[in-house]
Amino acid sequence: MECAAKGRGTACAGPAMRRCARCEAVSYCSIAHQIAHWSHHKQECERLEKQMKNVDVLNEFPFTFSQEATYQICEKHETRCSFLAKRHLHRVGMWMHECHCGASCATFDQLNKGWDLSSYFCPCSGPESPIAEELHSWEDYYKWRCIPLDSPVALLLHWPLTVYHAFQLVGIKILNPGMSDKLCIHYLGPEKELLQLAVFGELQALFPGVCIHVELVGPAIPPHSEQGWREDKYFSVCLLQ
Ligand SMILES: [Zn+2]
Ligand SMILES: [Zn+2]
Ligand SMILES: [Zn+2]
Ligand SMILES: [Zn+2]
Repeated sequence: MECAAKGRGTACAGPAMRRCARCEAVSYCSIAHQIAHWSHHKQECERLEKQMKNVDVLNEFPFTFSQEATYQICEKHETRCSFLAKRHLHRVGMWMHECHCGASCATFDQLNKGWDLSSYFCPCSGPESPIAEELHSWEDYYKWRCIPLDSPVALLLHWPLTVYHAFQLVGIKILNPGMSDKLCIHYLGPEKELLQLAVFGELQALFPGVCIHVELVGPAIPPHSEQGWREDKYFSVCLLQ
């Protein structure tokens, strides 16, 4: 972790070993930097403290990042960039926003509709078999969608799969058309997913027969944009091969 006061005045005195005792979410290099930063940090310390109590719950989420990507990167075998480059996805389309060098040159004008993968690796058409009672892991998901386990699509699909998991948590097992034919999701505070909206097309496979309307709300949504909402009628496309 970096010193939370880095770049705000005097240079850091060393590694950030002092944690804020209350929230435990930020660290400082020295007591001087901690004191100097307090006027800023006190505005968010309480919120962070609450959020940190939920860390265990969040870690339990089955549909976060693909294990392969996080393991490789945590163990320093790879960087995000090399992981993507090996798969010909570095600074390409929706993958552009998965590393810092790509994200810095992306704009909201870029509509990224495709996976930029061969169809073998991605879910670009309806499922071959109906969705199982419940998906518990990426492995369940990949098997159901007939995608090889080394496909990197989980890196982007964690957005719609997290929505799916949220429905499981509130006890809605399978949304069937008899119950409701329209599902309206209010999605708060989207950032880079605004540039990866095509992946939400997968909600159609997860909630078959239901018309899905995603309403995006948050400061990152550009004014006058068409991106405030979408209704998914199409799966994200792939390179035709
Ligand atoms: Zn510092
Ligand atoms: Zn704090
Ligand atoms: Zn990169
Ligand atoms: Zn495809």
